[in-house]
Amino acid sequence: MKFAAIVREGPTPLNEFLKIATALADGTKQLRGVSDSPRLDAELLLARALDVPRTYLFAHPEDALDPVAVERFCSSLEQRSDGLPLAYISGEKEFWSMTLIVNQDTLVPRPETELLVDKALQHIPKDRKLAILDLGTGCGAIALAIAKERPHCIITATDVSDAALAVARENANRHALPNIEFLCGDWIAPVTGRTFDIIASNPPYVPEADPDLERLKHEPQMALLSGEDGLDAIRRISGEAKSVIRQGGTLLIEHGDSQTVEITGILSADGWSEVSHMNDLAGKLRVTIATG
Ligand code: SAM
Ligand code: GLN
Repeated sequence: MKFAAIVREGPTPLNEFLKIATALADGTKQLRGVSDSPRLDAELLLARALDVPRTYLFAHPEDALDPVAVERFCSSLEQRSDGLPLAYISGEKEFWSMTLIVNQDTLVPRPETELLVDKALQHIPKDRKLAILDLGTGCGAIALAIAKERPHCIITATDVSDAALAVARENANRHALPNIEFLCGDWIAPVTGRTFDIIASNPPYVPEADPDLERLKHEPQMALLSGEDGLDAIRRISGEAKSVIRQGGTLLIEHGDSQTVEITGILSADGWSEVSHMNDLAGKLRVTIATG
């Protein structure tokens, strides 16, 4: 495929075409300071603007862009420059080797949440039919990953946001995972009276005045914020989950790396035992595990 040449506006000399290589170099420059991976982001946005696989860009650096592609590329660069996560521009995010739909009603699943899934799976033998609860499922990341790895288990996924649950349901359908039920409600409320073997949660845990919130401004604040110290949701979950965990069952919670001491105190006071913490790949303690 060859793109129709266009005359580039502005300071670039007339009759110079905007080539793929130049567009990538310009885009990368624009995203420096905004993204940790400016070149990769520019490549993904340009591939999307052209509706081609990313590898096409490397094979055709001299191709000139057509005006529609230039327009699409520029407008997505602007969005990305304002801090909009790439996942909201593309509408999808990879998690546990699955492509999940995301939108601004759902947190963008983070790679470190795969640690929580990994630890949860270590507590779920392949041949057992356990009841598993994912509290605050968002786009369904944790529930879907466990459902995929443990098809015999029934996963109950809850969220207080109907809009997020709609995305999670769509993801479960797309990945043909029938072993998840979705329930709307405030933490334990939708599952009162039931019992689970495993409860996993990536709750909101960012303190209200955290300077990082500027970086997170495009994501749902209800998915992130949790009171002055970021621990309000974890206090609720610790207290309420005790009534729905099977005796000897396991609770796994993701949190910030500075919150382990407080979380140990909260869980112990609520009667959880064997409280331990797990490192993420960066060596930070990001998941706490406790026995009910
Ligand atoms: N589990 C997803 C993930 O790991 O990508 C999303 C986690 S996000 C940090 C927290 C989720 O908790 C959001 O989807 C939010 O809507 C939900 N949430 C917030 N308050 C809640 C509440 N009171 N009851 C149930 N879910 C709640
Ligand atoms: N890990 C998220 C961050 O980027 C926070 C997610 C959460 O509150 N659960 O800070």
